[in-house]
Amino acid sequence: MTYRYIICGSGLAGSVAARVLAEKGERVLLLEKLDHVGGSVYDCEDQAGVLIHKYGPHIFHTNNKRVYDFLSRFTGWRDYQHRVLARIGDRYLPVPFNITALKMVYGQETADKYLRLLKESYGTDTVSVMSLRSSGIPELRELGNYVYDNIFLYYTVKQWGKSPSEVDPGTTARVPVRLSEDDRYFTDLYQGMPENGYTEVINRLIKHDNITVETSCDALERLKLSDGKIFFDGEETDADIIYTGEADRLFRYRYGALPYRTLDFRFETLEQDSFQPCATVNYTVSEDFTRITEFKKLTGQKINGVTTIMKEYPKEYSASEGEIPYYPVACKESAALYERYLAECAAYPRLHLLGRLAEYRYYNMDAVVARALEMCEDVR
Ligand SMILES: Cc1cc2nc3c(=O)[nH]c(=O)nc-3n(C[C@H](O)[C@H](O)[C@H](O)COP(=O)(O)OP(=O)(O)OC[C@H]3O[C@@H](n4cnc5c(N)ncnc54)[C@H](O)[C@@H]3O)c2cc1C
Repeated sequence: MTYRYIICGSGLAGSVAARVLAEKGERVLLLEKLDHVGGSVYDCEDQAGVLIHKYGPHIFHTNNKRVYDFLSRFTGWRDYQHRVLARIGDRYLPVPFNITALKMVYGQETADKYLRLLKESYGTDTVSVMSLRSSGIPELRELGNYVYDNIFLYYTVKQWGKSPSEVDPGTTARVPVRLSEDDRYFTDLYQGMPENGYTEVINRLIKHDNITVETSCDALERLKLSDGKIFFDGEETDADIIYTGEADRLFRYRYGALPYRTLDFRFETLEQDSFQPCATVNYTVSEDFTRITEFKKLTGQKINGVTTIMKEYPKEYSASEGEIPYYPVACKESAALYERYLAECAAYPRLHLLGRLAEYRYYNMDAVVARALEMCEDVR
């Protein structure tokens, strides 16, 4: 069997690409290293029958209608607006910090005063913590510092393994304070959870007569790059290769390993209906884990007397057996290292890098789908 495309990796990137190309009439071989398809969005039932996201909680949100319409061919959506709370002592504060949180922390009277000052100083719906911390008004500076210290700092220290002094104050530029009671985590036009889970979306994407899927197959054991030529199963191939795995591994770590953060997920199944007030609770001033997800609250699954939660412990990625690289570490050195791998690819015009690992960047699901749609229009 000859294939026009060989796609390495069956995450969202590889699966969307496979579908689009198959619908163009191309024959596609989709190889997946793991024993299941789906990559990071894989979900499955645990032993108690609770639907869990094995590689971390995934909430779909986008303003991109094309992406939403495309995915909607493969799933219906459960209406779901994600809400996050920060656990501070025995209190739960909305994240992003909003007017409700302001009242909880400072009481109605002081909150009213702060709100007046905020409205006089800013004509917008959201203000960055950075801007509050550098405000000329002492009360607003105090508010900015409260949010920085209680919502942002320790969480970031845990997430990226830094000491508080190493946290770049500039990154707070993106941390919003909302001047409203809107407590949704995302404000995108389209939000929801696939009604039967993500694995079913992937299975429907790759179910096509032109797509052959092989799981438990590490593409790099069959693919060799040499002097501008690509070999597959020992023979030179003129198939286009869409590679969605790690860029450094593709070139056998020739220039060294790209740095990542990984996550240790600890699941607990509890014999109770409910564990926490919403799907995600961030631990922003205490604990070694960053957050707890309670899956039933995310997926809407109706199952009584049992619930599964997951704690996330971030740590440095060491490429040991079973460890998964999750977040690229953005810095000048890693960008320069990635550029060297990218330069290697230039010798192989039929090799296309796609997705979060191959492109060494954090993509939300909608962005990776958009990227796959775009790429598959462009490849010959
Ligand atoms: C903890 C966490 C939570 C997230 N939550 C959200 C969220 O709530 N909302 C959102 O929009 N986005 C979220 N994301 C981002 C989302 O996971 C990504 O956008 C998306 O999964 C990227 O898809 P991908 O196909 O590029 O990568 P992946 O899903 O990682 O797929 C890559 C696939 O390639 C396979 N592979 C690698 N090398 C080889 C090889 N040599 N041979 C064969 N197969 C190979 C891997 O096994 C994997 O299956 C989250 C990410 C993380 C880490």
